[in-house]
Amino acid sequence: MKILALNCGSSSLKYQLYDWKYKRVDCLGVVEKIGLDEPSLKHRNLDKSCTLKDSTLTTHANALTLVVNMLLDGIYGEINSMSEIYAVGHRVVHGGDRFTRSTRITDTALDLLGKISVLAPLHNPPNLAGIRAAKSIMPNALQVAVFDTAFHQSMPEVAYQYAIPRKWYNDHHVRRYGFHGTSHLYVSKRAAVMLGKPAKECNLIIMHIGNGVSVTAIKNGVSVDTSMGFTPLEGAIMGTRSGDLDPAIPLYMQQQLGTTADAISAALNRESGLLGITDKYVDRRDILQCAEKGDEQCKLAVDMEIYRLKKYFGMYAATLGRVDAVVFTAGVGENSGIIRQGVMEGLEHFGVFLDRELNLATVSSSGETMISTEESPVKVFMIPTNEELVLIEDVVGVLDGTYDDHMHYKYSFA
Ligand code: ADP
Repeated sequence: MKILALNCGSSSLKYQLYDWKYKRVDCLGVVEKIGLDEPSLKHRNLDKSCTLKDSTLTTHANALTLVVNMLLDGIYGEINSMSEIYAVGHRVVHGGDRFTRSTRITDTALDLLGKISVLAPLHNPPNLAGIRAAKSIMPNALQVAVFDTAFHQSMPEVAYQYAIPRKWYNDHHVRRYGFHGTSHLYVSKRAAVMLGKPAKECNLIIMHIGNGVSVTAIKNGVSVDTSMGFTPLEGAIMGTRSGDLDPAIPLYMQQQLGTTADAISAALNRESGLLGITDKYVDRRDILQCAEKGDEQCKLAVDMEIYRLKKYFGMYAATLGRVDAVVFTAGVGENSGIIRQGVMEGLEHFGVFLDRELNLATVSSSGETMISTEESPVKVFMIPTNEELVLIEDVVGVLDGTYDDHMHYKYSFA
């Protein structure tokens, strides 16, 4: 049984073809710059890789057609007929409060997803374009949506409500939703395994630090608060997103610049965060390197990122009461000992004792590692995330009827 995992962004389409029987990824790749200059497909199967430039890639449907042809290719593909693809799993960023778990995409679900798109205008429309393309190109494959928001639907009202006019929530669904759900789900289950306890007994603080950054408080195995909010813009400092700021700032700047709400949204989503602070870099490797060479703006960016993450640790430690472990994951969380050390040092009175040497030596390829000392009352883990595996297992569970929600479904990695 083969399952195709799709993740459609505004100008990209990432995919993995997974063989359920052999529990392995047969092919994977990405189409980039869809509808822009010089679109291309980078593809890899079990033993070969290739790059194709194709200027006709103007839509997600074109991109998916090319991907399917590649999967069928005699040299680079791994299937002989499209009927071998049993199901397609779609990563959907926003499920609103209507989708609390992964779901089969029926016509009714698709209608509802269309209505929810207004909540995530940057993310959901390309996700929907991917779903429509897959339905028309692979009409016989079953389609399942896996949401970034679903994992956080366990948050209590005290955490998900904003102190705003009640009508904004009632009429416009303005509330905290949270994102990166599949990543938080995966690493929380793995952390429970590393702690040797059932997930439902674990209190965790998870720091997913990639280009996007979110921190989640897990109590008794479920998400009870998370730093991203109504959109992925809230929370920690990110590559190009501002994270938390005084809500009066965008209104003030819109008036000062005499500009549109869209322009302010673009500035906060694409020109802020680490890019805004340094004025040149998004990639943490560049920023850390320049900071080491003495670049003041880069030093400030590193210090601000660490400071903000530490504040989230404090907030969530206070609300959880007992913390069993802090988990670092995603590009930076898995690879940057410097950022991890910055966030975790000085927290000894909270029961956090980092093994400094081991922490600095630990990168993603080290695999899951406990980077606190053995005696540390609060453990610190580096756990490489695996969002694709969650998606694949959810697809299988939804289709064979064994999936209910993440606390009752038996994941292979839990
Ligand atoms: P996303 O999925 O949100 O696009 P990733 O989880 O892939 O992001 O993380 C991307 C970030 O990880 C980039 O800022 C990159 O610089 C950072 N990163 C990768 N390797 C390292 C490293 N060795 N040290 C510091 N940062 C790293």
